[in-house]
Amino acid sequence: MWDKKVDVLVIGYGGAGAVAAITSHDEGADVLIVEKMGVGGGNTNVSLGGFLCLTDLKEGRKYLEGVISCVYDTVDQDVIDTFAKECCYNRQWVEELGGKTHSYGGAAYGDIPGASVVEKRLITGENTKKTNSFWAFLKDLVEKRRIDTWFNVQTESLVINKQKEVIGAEVTSEGKKVRIKAEKGIILACGGFEYNENMKKNYLKGYPYYSLGSPGNTGDGVGLAISAGADLWHMSSVSTPLGFKASEHDAAFFIRPSAYSYIYVDQTGKRFASEFTDIHAYNNIVDFFDVGGLVFPRIPCFMIFDEKTKSKGPLAISALGYNRDLYQWSKDNSMELEKGWIVSDDTIAGLAKKLDLKSDVLQETVKKYNTACGLGNDIEHARPSDKLVSLENGPYYAMKLSPTLLNTQGGPKRDSFSRVIRPDGSYIKGLYSIGELGSVFGLLYQGGGNLGECMAFGRIAGKHAALEKYITDQADL
Ligand SMILES: Cc1cc2nc3c(=O)[nH]c(=O)nc-3n(C[C@H](O)[C@H](O)[C@H](O)COP(=O)(O)OP(=O)(O)OC[C@H]3O[C@@H](n4cnc5c(N)ncnc54)[C@H](O)[C@@H]3O)c2cc1C
Repeated sequence: MWDKKVDVLVIGYGGAGAVAAITSHDEGADVLIVEKMGVGGGNTNVSLGGFLCLTDLKEGRKYLEGVISCVYDTVDQDVIDTFAKECCYNRQWVEELGGKTHSYGGAAYGDIPGASVVEKRLITGENTKKTNSFWAFLKDLVEKRRIDTWFNVQTESLVINKQKEVIGAEVTSEGKKVRIKAEKGIILACGGFEYNENMKKNYLKGYPYYSLGSPGNTGDGVGLAISAGADLWHMSSVSTPLGFKASEHDAAFFIRPSAYSYIYVDQTGKRFASEFTDIHAYNNIVDFFDVGGLVFPRIPCFMIFDEKTKSKGPLAISALGYNRDLYQWSKDNSMELEKGWIVSDDTIAGLAKKLDLKSDVLQETVKKYNTACGLGNDIEHARPSDKLVSLENGPYYAMKLSPTLLNTQGGPKRDSFSRVIRPDGSYIKGLYSIGELGSVFGLLYQGGGNLGECMAFGRIAGKHAALEKYITDQADL
């Protein structure tokens, strides 16, 4: 009946899956990882690689609770406790396993209590066009342990017994169906649903949203978890900056100019937010629906800029995202202008015409913004005063921008052992969920939080599955 038996089956070989597999293996379990793409890494490998750490448990816990439950509560106290304890341990975990780390930032929301103990850290090392230092570190740990890893394997379904426990999975490998028994547990680490149009239409408010990450993230984990009776949470929560989607590429480009002479305008030609909103938080700004016009007037929106911004450097951050080794963005943006990705005109009125915007409105918007730059005070949208640089003489340029996902946070609800929970609050024996598939983050997101969470709940699930229990060792930190 079974083609293969293992202790722990990890579905998805990104950051969370790798951490879980390493931990389960080190606890003595026989582990198999199955990955649907030809290589591992998922979103993790195309990310910046920053992970969340806390330098004090009591204060850090306050901060995480503030971010996670700032507007409403969805996450149980013991899940937040566990996350906080594990974030205190993230740095040490890397260092115990031979990695070096360095800090590159802190809390996104400085007013939330406990913000001063938040650190974002990177694993010290080279980020190449193929591998970032975070993924290189994890991949090396998996390979040194010779953890069995199957690529190009599609997980079709979970095998569930009469007691409603998850005992195995059916996968397709090289065209053949393979039944895998997981004696101790299955860990879902399949990432989000950034490339599942149906799920995005159903679960997010605005549309269309594109992705900066890996096309392997098609929401399979959501379907698998539902089939076992899971409750879902945070389905409408995403972390998204604004970026550019070219029809010839699956993934979008992360747009972040090096100069400051640019503004964002909606389809009416008006600014609608500070252009320096936290990059993870644009969802809360762009999914506004105009019930009068029956449109999302900020999807797409437009970035309007002048020659200073055009010539300062590439508009896209080409070291990040799935396109990083598929397309070389030109240094002065001239190739993208030639391709028509950037539109240009000598006057704002001419640019407005090319974008199908009302020219008097766009002219007035630019005039108002330039006045704010002169005053050093953006009364309308509170853009930081050191980033107020006016749009000077033509030619002027524009690029169509859309929400471009760093991740989706939704998926199966988990408990403090990372077990998947049913709507009645009971847990599904044998099934765990980790990483951005059912993240603890809801409305607000703290940068570095996803990879911090991949490490935290990857360890928890990996250890609990291997030992069928996990009491966090870091309780006294
Ligand atoms: C450009 C960019 C920058 C980012 N920067 C940061 C950052 O600095 N810090 C941070 O915390 N977060 C960052 N993020 C978000 C973060 O990268 C992700 O949330 C995180 O990597 C998710 O890890 P994961 O292991 O859950 O999923 P992934 O790393 O995406 O791995 C999921 C894996 O599962 C595989 N899979 C999917 N379905 C199946 C299936 N049915 N069977 C088998 N395998 C399957 C996928 O192919 C993939 O390999 C960034 C994201 C992007 C796109």
